[in-house]
Amino acid sequence: MTLLYHSTRGAAPELDLRGATMAGLASDGGLYLPKTWPQFSAGDLAAMKNKPYVEVAMRVLAPFTAGVLTEDTLRRLLTEAYASFADPEITPMKKIDERTHALELFHGPTLAFKDVALQLLGGVFEHFLNESGERITVIGATSGDTGSAAMAALAGRKNVNVFILYPQKGPSDIQRKQMTCIDAPNVHAVAVEGTFDDCQAIVKSLFNDAPVRAKYNLAAVNSINWLRILAQMVYYFVAAARFAPKPISFVVPTGNFGNVFAGYAAMKCGLPVSKFAVASNRNDILTRFFANGRMKAEGVQSSLSPSMDIQVSSNFERLLFDLCDQSGAAVQSLMDTMRDKGEFSVTPQQLGKARQYFTAAKVDDALTLQTIADVYHECGYVLDPHSAVGVAAARQLARELPDPVVCLACAHPAKFPDTIHRAIGLRPALPDAVAALMQKPERTVLLPADRTKIERFMAEKVG
Ligand SMILES: *Cc1c(COP(=O)(O)O)cnc(C)c1O
Repeated sequence: MTLLYHSTRGAAPELDLRGATMAGLASDGGLYLPKTWPQFSAGDLAAMKNKPYVEVAMRVLAPFTAGVLTEDTLRRLLTEAYASFADPEITPMKKIDERTHALELFHGPTLAFKDVALQLLGGVFEHFLNESGERITVIGATSGDTGSAAMAALAGRKNVNVFILYPQKGPSDIQRKQMTCIDAPNVHAVAVEGTFDDCQAIVKSLFNDAPVRAKYNLAAVNSINWLRILAQMVYYFVAAARFAPKPISFVVPTGNFGNVFAGYAAMKCGLPVSKFAVASNRNDILTRFFANGRMKAEGVQSSLSPSMDIQVSSNFERLLFDLCDQSGAAVQSLMDTMRDKGEFSVTPQQLGKARQYFTAAKVDDALTLQTIADVYHECGYVLDPHSAVGVAAARQLARELPDPVVCLACAHPAKFPDTIHRAIGLRPALPDAVAALMQKPERTVLLPADRTKIERFMAEKVG
């Protein structure tokens, strides 16, 4: 039986997994979700205990991919996606104190959790394009992590060209080299003489130009893509199987609500979860929402955990759909209010429902540094600043989070050497594969923040 997906705004065609993956955003502006949630029993979960990652992924993804990917194809895509991970367990878990564990999601090629989903998405895209004979052009703007993960996932793939725009002065040295040292003719790192917002505006304007969109068959790989959420559900199962049948608490450092929504989706499929804690840095739109039910964006401020410097949590719309009892019209109306007034509020009943599953905490830069130092001195474990936001939130919310507590460790500490040095006086070594990449020649092009010039560059490369 093939599972169908519907839009959170209720006015787009229902699609199968292939359609939802290739579309990204639904045509009504909404996000795709499965119409029914496959269920996993306590017995299913027990059978996943201590199984290899790819085996757990096969079981979790089977009901979502049935009728679209054969079992053989799914196994091949999963095996290829996770062959690039440096740890044989793919997402190993490390104990950091009596009740707290770090689930390490950073053993992929770009050292951040986005690899877990994007490595799979790259292969799935290529598979669908081979079947249909189409070609696509992926274009995106990045402040650092998403761009490099997308390039690593799509480098050398057939029928895909990738252009990633980044602010010339934005990314750290490591982040930039992760984009410019990739040696594949189909991926293009474009340094833009401007800010991240300039890059984003150019990408949006290209997407909104129907002839350009059609000419290049433009596609996006940002976290609104359902397949990314689906791939991320797997590690929640891996962690929960370890402690089954005991329910666990998950702490998730997030800005976009993407990673934590994957956990909520796993819970809807039967995973035993006590609570999700949403951890944010000074950009605390989500923490404020769980306190007062009001979603209101404020200006983005930079922090020591830059991948969470976000004020528009695009994936939150997927939770909102449940809070609105799956009424697409109700979601559309809240999104219209957001567009017109810059904010919206949910009812006390809706907030109560959200708080059944979620709690939240905000962690500032000083506490982030303190937590990196505390954990290092307690047990020798080095947290990256994003993961430290999570562990600090776990400690702050201890009374609300029943044991055991699993904190998602979202990036490798070596990706943020200056912050780690500030906290504990040493710089963690890069894993060998990444250190080797850093030695390769950089390949980039510097262009003005001018849409016409960027389009001309794309035309030269794609033709
Ligand atoms: C992208 C990213 C996040 C935030 O992820 P969400 O999609 O907002 O949940 C957190 N930490 C790191 C290291 C990231 O790269």
